Amino acid sequence: MLNLEILIVGGGIGGLTAAIALRRDGHRVTVIEKDPEWAVYGVGIIQQGNVLRAMKELDLLDDYMDAAVGFDFVAVHAPDGTQVAKVPSPRLVEGYPANVGIGRPALHKVLGDRTIAAGADVRLGVTAETIEDDGEGVTVRFSDGSGGRYDIVIGADGVYSDTRQKVMPGAEEPEYTGQAVWRYNLPRPSDLDALHVYNGPTGVGLVPISDELMYMYVTTPEPGNPWYDEDGLAQVMRGKLAATAQPIRELAENITDDQGVVYRPLEAMMLTGAWHKGRAVLLGDAVHATTPHLGQGAGMAIEDSIVLAEELAKADSFEAAFNAYRERRFERCKYIVESSLAICHGQLGKGPAVDNHKATAEMFEVTAQPI
Ligand SMILES: Cc1cc2nc3c(=O)[nH]c(=O)nc-3n(C[C@H](O)[C@H](O)[C@H](O)COP(=O)(O)OP(=O)(O)OC[C@H]3O[C@@H](n4cnc5c(N)ncnc54)[C@H](O)[C@@H]3O)c2cc1C
Repeated sequence: MLNLEILIVGGGIGGLTAAIALRRDGHRVTVIEKDPEWAVYGVGIIQQGNVLRAMKELDLLDDYMDAAVGFDFVAVHAPDGTQVAKVPSPRLVEGYPANVGIGRPALHKVLGDRTIAAGADVRLGVTAETIEDDGEGVTVRFSDGSGGRYDIVIGADGVYSDTRQKVMPGAEEPEYTGQAVWRYNLPRPSDLDALHVYNGPTGVGLVPISDELMYMYVTTPEPGNPWYDEDGLAQVMRGKLAATAQPIRELAENITDDQGVVYRPLEAMMLTGAWHKGRAVLLGDAVHATTPHLGQGAGMAIEDSIVLAEELAKADSFEAAFNAYRERRFERCKYIVESSLAICHGQLGKGPAVDNHKATAEMFEVTAQPI
């Protein structure tokens, strides 16, 4: 088995799960993270059974579940607010729920704590200025003036990956879809027992993330990708909800803190060529960034890191491992990116309308397959 000196660029969801998986196999791991505060924004995400299965594989499941809220169905509401369906979702790990809602800071803490406990060296406020692969190894010069020599470099630095731009200049770049998401944390009503989705021209979801908190997400068309100033953002978000169901309009009255609004134009990209060049390899959003319509972006990043570690453990060359990793991941990640984009385009009238529940049921079938 290879025993490698590994640099991971990016201490987000994919970079940290990769660090955990690779430390378990005995590799020496350094993580550089550009944010000196190592902070993530305060809303949450939805994850499904394949992520619980991956957390089990990483021996993180109980820590993860302690930080999350589990649920086994999605409640669907008509535009007038009436609940019209309760769609069950399949469990993949016996004794554990089918889905979870989890706060991003809570997930980050679970992954960050384990990364450090596993013995990875995490360096904050640091980026890679130059990455030079001479065939025998990779020499990296860091933004703090220091340097290092590594067997391989993993770019887990997200959708705008600097590693991708450095090692694969001219590769695909993210494209704006025409849609954006608004998110905001609110007190969790005692009867919010699952993800509640409100259909209509403005899509809304309510996701429990702790005993006290839920977050609301709102998808809106945003032609031309407008810039919204932080001042007044809460009022703009409330305005976007003006034509939604009565219970949502009532909740919207509590959206008052401009700084609590997380606004994000939605972009997507899929690297169709190789996912590595020489000794540098990419994972997560750096190589396949999806819109969140199927709630699987982070799940794909976590699965990538497990598969990459497995292939490095099996292969006798990193090149063989990188090829096998892409081979196992490509179709699944492409499916998530394309199916999510199809829902997005349908909502925007840029493509045929997609039956969201059918697409979600299919996603559950695909992601239930072993990785
Ligand atoms: C609106 C929205 C909602 C979403 N909702 C969900 C959901 O409900 N469920 C789900 O599964 N997924 C969701 N996703 C997708 C999910 O957030 C991403 O797929 C996931 O975060 C990807 O993980 P990553 O580690 O590849 O990248 P990131 O989480 O973006 O992490 C990248 C890290 O690299 C760091 N970094 C960047 N550049 C550098 C550099 N040059 N040097 C060092 N460090 C660097 C960043 O600071 C960051 O810490 C959503 C995405 C969006 C946009």
